[in-house]
Amino acid sequence: MRPAPGPVAPGAAASVWARPAAGVVLDPGGWLGAWERTNREATIDHCIAQLAERGALDNLRRLTGEHDGPRVGFMFSDSDVYKVLEAAGWETQRALEAGEGPGETLAEFVPDAVDLLSRAQQDDGYLNSFAGADGRARWSNLRWDHELYCLGHLLQAAVAWHRVPAGDLAAPLARARERLLGVARRFADHVLARWRAGEPVLCGHPEIETALVEFHRATGVRAYLDLAVAMIEARGHDTLGPDAFGPAYFQDHMPVRDARDAEGHAVRQLYLLAGVVDAAAETGDAGLLSAAERLWRSAHAAKMHVTGGMGSRHRDEAYGDDYELPPDRGYAETCAAVADFMLSHRLLLATGDAGYGRAMDRTLYNALAAAVDGTGTRFFYSCPLQMRTDRAGAHEQAPAERAPWYECACCPPNLARLLASMRHAVAASTDDGLAVLLPVSARIPSNGAEIVVESALPYGGAVQLSSRDRESGAPEACGERVRIRLPEGADLETVAGAEAHVDAGWLVVEPGWSSVRIDLRMGAMVRRAHHRADALRGHRVITRGPVVYALESADVPAGVRLEDVRLAQGSAAPRVDGEILGAPAVVVSLASDEAGARGPEQLYPVAGADGLDAPSGAEAAGFTARLVPFGLWGRRGAGAMRVWIPAGD
Ligand SMILES: [Zn+2]
Repeated sequence: MRPAPGPVAPGAAASVWARPAAGVVLDPGGWLGAWERTNREATIDHCIAQLAERGALDNLRRLTGEHDGPRVGFMFSDSDVYKVLEAAGWETQRALEAGEGPGETLAEFVPDAVDLLSRAQQDDGYLNSFAGADGRARWSNLRWDHELYCLGHLLQAAVAWHRVPAGDLAAPLARARERLLGVARRFADHVLARWRAGEPVLCGHPEIETALVEFHRATGVRAYLDLAVAMIEARGHDTLGPDAFGPAYFQDHMPVRDARDAEGHAVRQLYLLAGVVDAAAETGDAGLLSAAERLWRSAHAAKMHVTGGMGSRHRDEAYGDDYELPPDRGYAETCAAVADFMLSHRLLLATGDAGYGRAMDRTLYNALAAAVDGTGTRFFYSCPLQMRTDRAGAHEQAPAERAPWYECACCPPNLARLLASMRHAVAASTDDGLAVLLPVSARIPSNGAEIVVESALPYGGAVQLSSRDRESGAPEACGERVRIRLPEGADLETVAGAEAHVDAGWLVVEPGWSSVRIDLRMGAMVRRAHHRADALRGHRVITRGPVVYALESADVPAGVRLEDVRLAQGSAAPRVDGEILGAPAVVVSLASDEAGARGPEQLYPVAGADGLDAPSGAEAAGFTARLVPFGLWGRRGAGAMRVWIPAGD
């Protein structure tokens, strides 16, 4: 069957550098393919079970008279259902392309959920389980009620199913696919009618913008794009009205064209910018694109944690000031990492700037990887860069361990839909060839043949590409120019088997080869932070390739507290030695001061005579310890962790 597009499919006339390649198959033996497999075998089913257990489906059943209990959870719980339906759509598309059928859970859940939505929808197209629940009339509080945010996720679910080939589906799923599209279209048209009547249509939580552009792409209806553009332009004029949280929280503080700094609620900022890039691609509006690039730079140059996590403040889940990056209070919500990945991917497609791809690496291999454990059923909501010893981490926004679900359940189903569609972010076609955006182990269609990528990334620097006939598997010379985006933190050592050169972060391989071997050097590196990042001053972080490493209490000698550990002065450079949790371990030399060795245990002792020296005492105890990739931390039970390690006192 002909492969279908993923969640980003620019129209024929769109101003983009590249369009996502359809038909990419991730290798389950590779890093990303293994995660995609865990996602489909565990995470999606886990999410479906949680929707039932935690009341998101019952909230909708209140509208049909099938449930008479109180509405539970946050006002946007419908979006949890939509995100899981979207994940199910991408997974079904993958399964059909692979010649498999959708799993039993999906075959049961999807028709039932779509039937419920269809019955819960009002005659005029409106659909939301929160309206009326709190004495709130529909559309009465655009800042807080998330009605358009939820519609955005409904549209994205409908787009995913629209891109599942109907002819290959069993009848109940084929019918659900059609009905979901109808439900989404009726609600979208209801909002269009309100807009045309001059009613305010803006959401306190952006997301609808990117969804409307994609719904336009899927249906061909121009009005959805026009509405998305109108929503983007309406922001920034205090359109949503006064609120104690202030206009930046709702991305209503400044028109996006004029904004200089990434501000406010990080997820809202990043979703909005994803929609801005989508709208700019379809309209050719260079001003909108440059605004998105400028705000991306603001976020990535001075407000991003080294793990790619976004948002420094628990309060308002917000960006901080420039260089305000406390590791122990880093908020770094999983949804912000999802949204940032979506934004960087769109900007890479729009511009071809490899820097956006390196940002995808940083987010994927660190912030996103840490968000879920190996079982695919336990998640972080916030992903700080330090967990202190004996942390009482029961609070939902700062747990000490990953949890199976959250009252505010935005993150787990967001990961599920991202991973289910991740294969569509791997490669793209340009005017003159193919671009491998993420050099991971995969099969990528190329001019009737296919390119097989065998990649050791992110833990190794060997990448092998073979061009072969799709049917027979016999070697076949690659007929197009292939650009391979060079990863974050790796130096190109050798390329063998083809004529190639490096151009602005891409390895450009000319046609005619059947096998190319790329070797990247990925030594362990010690990095420091910008001197204005006060919370990180005097600290170091160890990275290797795109992977950020962390130190866990499980890997220091018994009795040593992680808060007392520092890098040993004058010791050997960090080196790779052995494995930890299936990944290369980086070994560092550390020292830990004996209790009391650093002077009186006061909170603020007097410094030495010159005002600089640290109190000295007994010789520090030295030892070596293995660091673990940040994405794998916390897999051995609760404990302390730190990414940034003190280098001095
Ligand atoms: Zn979230």
